[in-house]
Amino acid sequence: MKKFRVEKTLKTNSGSIRLGHLQLPVSSSGVVEDGDKKRSSERKNDYGTPMFFLHTQTGSIPHITAEVLQLIYPTSTPSISSQTPPVQISLDSTTKFMDALKKFGKGVGKFVGLSDYPIFLTVHDPLYLLRSGHNDKFGIALWSRHGRRPLSPQQYHEAATAFKPSICQVLSDYDVNPKISGTKRLQKSLDRAEEYTSCIIKQQETEPKNEALGLFITVEASWFQMDEGRATKTVLKLLESQHQIEGVVLAGLTDRFPKKDVEVKKNPSGKGSSGERERVDICQALDVDLLEKILQTLPPGLPKYIPGPLRIPEMMDLIAKGVDIFDSSVASRMADDAEVFLLDSVEALLPSISSTVVKLSSSLNEGLPERESNEKNQPSREDEEGAVVSLKNKKYFDDFGPLSSFCVCYTCRKHTRSYIHHLYATDELLGPVLIQIHNLTALDRFFSIMRTLIKECDTPESLQTKLDLIRNLLNNRILRQAEEEEKVAVQAHV
Ligand SMILES: [Zn+2]
Repeated sequence: MKKFRVEKTLKTNSGSIRLGHLQLPVSSSGVVEDGDKKRSSERKNDYGTPMFFLHTQTGSIPHITAEVLQLIYPTSTPSISSQTPPVQISLDSTTKFMDALKKFGKGVGKFVGLSDYPIFLTVHDPLYLLRSGHNDKFGIALWSRHGRRPLSPQQYHEAATAFKPSICQVLSDYDVNPKISGTKRLQKSLDRAEEYTSCIIKQQETEPKNEALGLFITVEASWFQMDEGRATKTVLKLLESQHQIEGVVLAGLTDRFPKKDVEVKKNPSGKGSSGERERVDICQALDVDLLEKILQTLPPGLPKYIPGPLRIPEMMDLIAKGVDIFDSSVASRMADDAEVFLLDSVEALLPSISSTVVKLSSSLNEGLPERESNEKNQPSREDEEGAVVSLKNKKYFDDFGPLSSFCVCYTCRKHTRSYIHHLYATDELLGPVLIQIHNLTALDRFFSIMRTLIKECDTPESLQTKLDLIRNLLNNRILRQAEEEEKVAVQAHV
């Protein structure tokens, strides 16, 4: 049975915006232990799209524990979140516990303490760059801070069986870089895509216990950059066994390799290169023309996921093109850098642009401390707020307001900007914890607003007008913030 259905499509100037539903079981194995049975049967597994997956590293949400996660996305109602997102776990960040997990035998959800969440098993952590030159006919190279680990299709299938995810991404030979790869390299990657996909489908068919596992094929953007004709042919072949394919991962649209070619050739063995991996930057300008080319070859009935850190205005552009799923890697990345999502400009205008977006009320947030009323009505910060602000800025030294005047998350109820600014100034671990709580709440809020707007608009024109308005609100403020930062930098230089 298909896990995804499109509820509504509106064709606008920029593309087809969709409202959909993705249904995911908590575990594909069908084996649910007694203790979990009750909770699982009560779980709402129908996810409205556009949506996002919760990004994890080594099976945990960066900066927060599973208990804190329950504060943001409780698996029981009432909840301040609109929906509890499924969890995305990448193979490369879990190489060290893969063998233990096989012995454990109860799946990765239980192993990492997230058994209440459906798991999407992906191949790479979207926050780190990959290295070139190590994929071969035996399989691909996985990268982690412990170095390189080769992965064959057979090992991948064994891992998928041990992880017991609800959905998993099909392996892909990602090592095609239009700047340095030749056509032979491209052909190899295309051939391997077919091989990996048919291999996992065959293995699925011979193991009935994996029957419910949904597969997301991987489509590499670089194939289309290099040869659209050949890329289209391969993608159509990958989709031939459509009944097994539940969705598409659009890979390589955000940065995946180091920018300088010299760096690509470094670390020939990859071994012993433990320590810091090179992080990707938040993607500011995704190649929309390239995305459109790829989307044209894909059937509308499949959900499309773009991995990697993207700002909210960029996500809006991609939703407008028909992309359904993202991940929260941007929130993790921003918390590292003391950056906060602010939707205040949008929240302030929401009553005039939507009749049905639920206003967050304190009754939904029982058990959390009430925000003091004088904090709620801070002097207007109109001039200084952006869609993203950095709490490292000295101006927050004595700002005793919450991160956001509208947000009802734990951080916004309990803490001031001033305190969080100090936590970062003194490198306290609590700083990123508090910002991550807020950012994940804001991300949920953003997707909830998007779904409501698509649902309530009857014509493409009215939806486009509202999206343009929101995008302008967020963008103007991002620009204002950039100008301000530039001013500060110039002053510091003088
Ligand atoms: Zn908040």
